[in-house]
Amino acid sequence: MKDTRYIFVTGGVVSSLGKGIISASLARLLKARGLNVTIQKLDPYINVDPGTLNPYEHGECYVTEDGAETDLDLGHYERFLNVHTSQANNVTTGRIYQSVIDKERRGDYLGETVQIIPHITDEIKYRIRLLAAHGKYDVIITEIGGTVGDIESLPYIEAVRQMRWELGEKAAVIHLTLVPYLTASGELKTKPTQHSVKTLLELGVQPDVIVCRTEKPLNEGIKSKIALFCNVKEEAVIESIDVSTIYEVPIRMRDEKLDEVILKKIGLPINKADLSGWEDFLKRLKNPKGKTRIGVIGKYVELKDSYKSILESLLHAGAKNQVKVDIELIHSEHLNETNIEEKLGGLNGILVAPGFGERGFEGKILAVKYARENNVPFLGICLGMQAAVIEFARNVLHLEGAHSREVDRRTPHPVIDIMESQKKVSGKGGTMRLGSYPCEIKKGSKLEAIYPEQLIHERHRHRYEFNNKYIEMYAMHGMHAVGINPNEDLVEIVELDKHPWFIGVQFHPEYKSTVESPHPLFTAFIAAAVKESKKKN
Ligand code: GLN
Repeated sequence: MKDTRYIFVTGGVVSSLGKGIISASLARLLKARGLNVTIQKLDPYINVDPGTLNPYEHGECYVTEDGAETDLDLGHYERFLNVHTSQANNVTTGRIYQSVIDKERRGDYLGETVQIIPHITDEIKYRIRLLAAHGKYDVIITEIGGTVGDIESLPYIEAVRQMRWELGEKAAVIHLTLVPYLTASGELKTKPTQHSVKTLLELGVQPDVIVCRTEKPLNEGIKSKIALFCNVKEEAVIESIDVSTIYEVPIRMRDEKLDEVILKKIGLPINKADLSGWEDFLKRLKNPKGKTRIGVIGKYVELKDSYKSILESLLHAGAKNQVKVDIELIHSEHLNETNIEEKLGGLNGILVAPGFGERGFEGKILAVKYARENNVPFLGICLGMQAAVIEFARNVLHLEGAHSREVDRRTPHPVIDIMESQKKVSGKGGTMRLGSYPCEIKKGSKLEAIYPEQLIHERHRHRYEFNNKYIEMYAMHGMHAVGINPNEDLVEIVELDKHPWFIGVQFHPEYKSTVESPHPLFTAFIAAAVKESKKKN
């Protein structure tokens, strides 16, 4: 059994400082030094999971192999660490309370008064330690969502205080703060950091390391001031300066010796770090030999975080191809017959994004039609694939009323239900298909050249499925089902034969693309975009 170490990451002063990126960067650095690491996010909201949260407000919902709908920070963890996470890596206040209340109803507390301390805090501690149960990890990094001093995060900070006390030298606390620059006086200010650490101290937690987000370099004077006022060593005051890409952060943190300070603190050896794969990726990312313009057609374009994993996957694929990917987020609701050429004309590739509900769907259909007719490389993801098959039904098969049941539930006419809900297809009650499912790639398809294996596994988050009774008809007209879930006989991937690159996938490849393993579909999509644009010029 491993003697697991625990690192807690808290944040102060303001939200959105990038605790997730700092946690992921530290994890990557520790992995580079040969340690097995995982990262966990504790979210202080009352939703049981983020599955029901509005993407406009909270960004995308990230889905893990085991089908957990999680916070988008888990996407960063996987992209940085190249290791799968699971339901256990994301815990919300809602989930904690739900299990405590369930236990109470079952009578597990034997007449006790159930309270925040110890019952809620014990449940939090249990969830943190759960990741260590299999003895797989040397280090567990737990990121506490929110900002210290918030009412919501109090039980979490108390749990951290207790665990710290129980674990002694086997635990460390990192506090991330903001050191603002005042242009008027030309100074960096440490007071917000001092106050934030004071709040943490009032709750009984002394941070071991302070990571300072800043626009300007921290001079030695500032570092020693923060060290003195916050009771940490000067080497434990880490500068985290704004950088052009988040993928630069691990390198900066290595230069600042964040990993070494932490390893010393938790009593682990400082082995040689191997970051060659990462550095190679950065080199390709920063030295593109060309560029390509990709349009992402969706309806949550106001908040870039809604398509976080897709945007990152395109970036990984760009680096792999050593081209810069210029992404244009295009609102599907704003597309119509008259402006389609103007909006999509200059694109080298068109990606129709996932989504739910009716709004903006017709714009997606128009984008598919444009890509299909103009030989523009096309990738349709989930609802994007559904739009692709419906567009094909309407405009090639001439099934005029073709639709998805999700979008049009009114009539049972056969041409309406190109996409059926799982309830009908697999008798599962119409609930979402979530997480990893197998898919077999058809021999002789164009897709074979893209995926290295014949049996692949991809993650899902959807309700509707292609209606198999149309498979033959589609194939006769040039759209082929080339990826099939072998257990349930469900269409996972379609491709067009008379088109340079046109693929629709029912699953979400974007959840599996990482810095060091860019996803083959995205890589091939970008390669096709580059190739086709060269042909045109
Ligand atoms: N709304 C569609 C479905 O439920 C697609 C979901 C998605 O794009 N993630 O099947």
